[in-house]
Amino acid sequence: MTTDSAAERVQAAAPERYEHEDDLHGQRHPSDAELRRQLADTLRKETALVEKWVSSGDCFILSDAGKVHLPSCSDIQALMDREAAWAPYLDDLERVRDWHGTDNAPPMPALLTRADVEDLASYAACPGCAPVLDHTEKRAAARGWTAVQAGGLNFRHFGTVFSLADGTELGTLTRISRVETADGLDFAAEFDGIVDPVADPLTELVYRSEAAPEQY
Ligand SMILES: [Zn+2]
Repeated sequence: MTTDSAAERVQAAAPERYEHEDDLHGQRHPSDAELRRQLADTLRKETALVEKWVSSGDCFILSDAGKVHLPSCSDIQALMDREAAWAPYLDDLERVRDWHGTDNAPPMPALLTRADVEDLASYAACPGCAPVLDHTEKRAAARGWTAVQAGGLNFRHFGTVFSLADGTELGTLTRISRVETADGLDFAAEFDGIVDPVADPLTELVYRSEAAPEQY
């Protein structure tokens, strides 16, 4: 498995999960038994995916707070143990059956390779499980640059030239749109140097700070 890139592994797993979610929501009122069967199937697939990643030997977990953990860390077992993650949902089938935003399925852990982790603009190594990484804490922006997540852009940023955290130039911010839909937020930040807008509000962007860095 070590030859697969993280993206390939995620892509390989994603269709199953989404296909299954379509099943859940396309079918208006599955019986409890049918729903339990579907959930058991989902649980089995998620467990297999997590085990595949862990057994690859190149697996780190990124928490929502930007902390990087080893798969064995006690802080993330509630996510890694899919049976534990699903338990409250299996005990409350109405929660699973009725779509209310995103809370009808437990989140999957964000599974990354070491290379994925080092590509992040910022992260902090969990002090508990202490994964061996290039940084204990990687800061978001280099000196003289300001970092912002795409979702944090506002009208004050129009006219500013942005780059991705890896240095890729995007050009000047020209348009931001946020549309709330039944499926969640439809986000787009448009720049004059790229064709497709940035659609992930969590994308890390940087721009040159106005003040000269020497002043700090
Ligand atoms: Zn940890």
